[in-house]
Amino acid sequence: MVTDLPRYDLHFHSTASDGVLPPAELLDRAHARDIKVLALTDHDTLEGYDQLRHQPMRGAVLVPGIELTALWEGRVVHIVGLNFCPDNLALRAYLAELIRIREERAQKIMSRLIKAGVDEAVFELAQSYAQEGTIGRPHFARAMVAKGCVSSEQAAFKQYLGTGKTGDVKVSWPDMARAVSVLTEAGGVAVLAHPTKYKMTFTKIRSMVQAFSECGGEAIEVSYTGITPSHQADLERLARSMDLMTSAGSDFHSPGQGWTDIGKFPPPISTESNILHAILSSVRN
Ligand code: AMP
Ligand code: MN
Ligand code: MN
Ligand code: MN
Repeated sequence: MVTDLPRYDLHFHSTASDGVLPPAELLDRAHARDIKVLALTDHDTLEGYDQLRHQPMRGAVLVPGIELTALWEGRVVHIVGLNFCPDNLALRAYLAELIRIREERAQKIMSRLIKAGVDEAVFELAQSYAQEGTIGRPHFARAMVAKGCVSSEQAAFKQYLGTGKTGDVKVSWPDMARAVSVLTEAGGVAVLAHPTKYKMTFTKIRSMVQAFSECGGEAIEVSYTGITPSHQADLERLARSMDLMTSAGSDFHSPGQGWTDIGKFPPPISTESNILHAILSSVRN
């Protein structure tokens, strides 16, 4: 077993989804920060990973990664997948379905925004921002800022796109159990992303993690940008009590978020359960 963990980041985004840096720039940024194990986890797409997989890694390990949008008890949750076979056909077909859902949802988001008085030109601009990847609410937020509808992306979420707002269109994302099974059947590990970011009580978080574990999920994120030390300790305790591995990543999207960067997140307190051990041993074998 590895005792000293290398520098790593198992959760960040590129222009293939709602990040603002292209995959190749993220790779340079990771090298500059001496990150040795990295997983690009774009929302519902492997486009960015496909661009990087044949690049020279200069001593680093690129782990196949993704962040799948799913539902648990009708709420949107994010399932990070790591270390799966990127050519698995069932996984690729599943992703094609998610892209279709995203495109249909984008049309619905725009109809709702227009009804709320937002300039129609926002749609074309949002689509142009998403040109290289899967369209999501952050593209609408950026377009609304550029068109002067709101003063910041945060304000766009607060007024129009955030949970319960008019642009938060409910669509039938696949259930969490399906996301977990598609990842595990592709030989990967399912990781419940940022459990404290779903506006749930800790009791609810515990039942979500329990359900996730029962359907084959093997790890939860315990450290990410913005987590408080006490929430981190709670999650590490929860992982231990349910015998789950732990994962961590910056969830970096943009250099405009000056408070975070690739490889930057509070170090997990306990290292024995870190998913990195499992990942590195599978890479070495
Ligand atoms: P989507 O995948 O289209 O549903 O959009 C979700 C993404 O929007 C998340 O992955 C974040 O990157 C971003 N996001 C969610 N909530 C906020 C918020 N309140 N402010 C800024 N960005 C947000
Ligand atoms: Mn995002
Ligand atoms: Mn997420
Ligand atoms: Mn993310």
